[in-house]
Amino acid sequence: CGIVGVIGREDTTEILLNGLEKLEYRGYDSAGIFVTSEHGEGHLVKEKGKIADLRAAVGSEVQGTLGIGHTRWATHGIPSDHNAHPQVSANGRFYLVHNGVLENYEELKAKYLSNVTFTSETDTEVAVQLVEYLVDQEGLDVLAAFRKMVSMMKGSYAFLMIDQTQPDQLYVAKNKSPLLIGLADGFNVVCSDSLAMLSLTHEFDELHDGETAIVTSDHVEIFDPNYQVVERKPYKVSLDA
Ligand code: GLU
Repeated sequence: CGIVGVIGREDTTEILLNGLEKLEYRGYDSAGIFVTSEHGEGHLVKEKGKIADLRAAVGSEVQGTLGIGHTRWATHGIPSDHNAHPQVSANGRFYLVHNGVLENYEELKAKYLSNVTFTSETDTEVAVQLVEYLVDQEGLDVLAAFRKMVSMMKGSYAFLMIDQTQPDQLYVAKNKSPLLIGLADGFNVVCSDSLAMLSLTHEFDELHDGETAIVTSDHVEIFDPNYQVVERKPYKVSLDA
């Protein structure tokens, strides 16, 4: 239902929790965050219920400079801790949050992932398992695997993905679910609604359907569906947080 991400800040955990609280009004049944340090030391916390419950479950060790967060409105799989996002690949390398509905997830699961042990009933887990499969079994680099996964998906999605072995970038994709990249000085954010990040920036790049992006702390690269770089002027949101 709601997505937040941040790269390049020491207070990543607080930014994610704050952002999720700003999106609470949209309704949700569970929430979660994944935060990693620049050395790839990661923390995953997920809770069925309120953001306040998630906040209470987040210990002081949950610190880092890159993170993603999600509020879930369950469409596939009951509301539960293990169905909450971020979803994780089997070897624990990739972490992904998703808004939307993947229409062909059962087909893709049967075709490519019959040997993979799933830990949730979500459509979303197929996306993150597929990236790991394409990297491990087809030898693709992570960006190529992420793009191939996106090209195989039918339905609606806003995706944010972290590769734990590259804790200096965020993988982003969008189709029929909103996703914005917020630009700031020395760090960048991603969100499904600018409300989540207005206390940090008022400048946003809007992603269009079929686009993917790579976001680092000081750079944003947006690609069209043919992987050509898109030049986009950011727009200014005048509302206050
Ligand atoms: N379809 C996904 C799920 O059920 C994402 C739902 C959402 O947008 O929150 O987990």
